[in-house]
Amino acid sequence: MAVEVATLRQEVTELLQELIRIDTTNPPGNETRAAELLRDYLEDAGVSCELYAKIPERANLVARIPGRGDGPTLLFLSHTDVVLADASEWSADPFGGELRDGEVWGRGALDMKGQVAAEAVAIASLAREGFEPAGDLIFCATADEEVGAGFGAAWLCEAHGDAVRCDYLINEGSGDRVELGGNAYYLCSVSEKMSAPFRLRVHGRSGHASMPGIADNALVKAAPLIEALGAHKPEQQLIPEVEALIETVTGVRPTSPDEVLAQARGVAPLLAEMVEPLLSMTLSPTMANASQKRNVIPATCDVTVDSRLLPGMTTNEQQEIVRGILGDGDYELTSLEAHGGTRSEMRTPLWDAVSAWVETADPGAKPAPICVAGFTDSHWFREAFGTVAYGFFPSRAMPIETAARLIHSADERVPVEDLELGVSFLRHAAQSLLSS
Ligand SMILES: [Zn+2]
Repeated sequence: MAVEVATLRQEVTELLQELIRIDTTNPPGNETRAAELLRDYLEDAGVSCELYAKIPERANLVARIPGRGDGPTLLFLSHTDVVLADASEWSADPFGGELRDGEVWGRGALDMKGQVAAEAVAIASLAREGFEPAGDLIFCATADEEVGAGFGAAWLCEAHGDAVRCDYLINEGSGDRVELGGNAYYLCSVSEKMSAPFRLRVHGRSGHASMPGIADNALVKAAPLIEALGAHKPEQQLIPEVEALIETVTGVRPTSPDEVLAQARGVAPLLAEMVEPLLSMTLSPTMANASQKRNVIPATCDVTVDSRLLPGMTTNEQQEIVRGILGDGDYELTSLEAHGGTRSEMRTPLWDAVSAWVETADPGAKPAPICVAGFTDSHWFREAFGTVAYGFFPSRAMPIETAARLIHSADERVPVEDLELGVSFLRHAAQSLLSS
């Protein structure tokens, strides 16, 4: 047994190093080489693979161990693309995949080639052992998560739904071990806020800047509107995930948002920081664009507002609130996108699998549900198939604050110990959900 564990640790480390050495910076992505590497690795273990590509350079890989009968299906989801790395900011080659002091360095180590490698090793090792799942065990490594231009999960769910339809899904998004009030918890994300940025276009009338009286300056008119958006304190509400998180940590189910913050602060500042953005929508004006010339008074001013909605809230509700804040005026609102904002049930066999693994891997620790403030590809599967999707890739060797600082940043790296922990969890999840 010890030999097998040591082998898997080495296997996941080497596979991750190889994946990092394939530059899949998106744009342009070029994920096909990563998909082919995974296919070669998995086929050696006897796992059948299929590449699905909207254009040849941007393939998604779907691998599967077919189920014996009509048991539930479980899909390990991940993406092979990464964000840009500026080598001058790094103290290692971002595409070198170097192993240094027990950590694998490189772009994507945390987001999320580490999990790609762990998922591949989990399914490959199960296949080698002759694992016969009740329902299909599927591994899907998609292209184009970071930009979402329509080559990855969204397209796969629509164009090849039968290949990726699943009852349960494990994805990125959470899994960090945190210590709160002297106890250890592993965060498991069961829902996500919606990313719903919009454009506020303020209208005026142009004119020469030397004669401001004849014009109506859209930039000046935008100023109080921007201020009103920035000053607005959105109404707080309690979502089920926050209730459950606070109850898990404190033993007391909160009854109001105020109580949540008080309870959270009583346990740890980290907990208060985590739940605060989960109590309301957010509105953050981030970009403004008016005249292109110093001496021309602008007829329009465009303000881009980043906005995140609680799961279940719609963009219509958002726009109504924003109109209430701005009042009547010469402006219009345009929704720029609406992604995420979905949730899965918390009491499910997948939760039980997470819970049982945590108890064994880290006696005394507990899983705790969380809604993540960002969004992942999970929502495509929830929307298309009603899939129960959780973000869970356990990590305990690297503190959550360190990981948060390294994702999409310089010197991204992952401890080998956490890769091994991930493989152990994924194997456990497949065995416990698909064995009966
Ligand atoms: Zn990611």
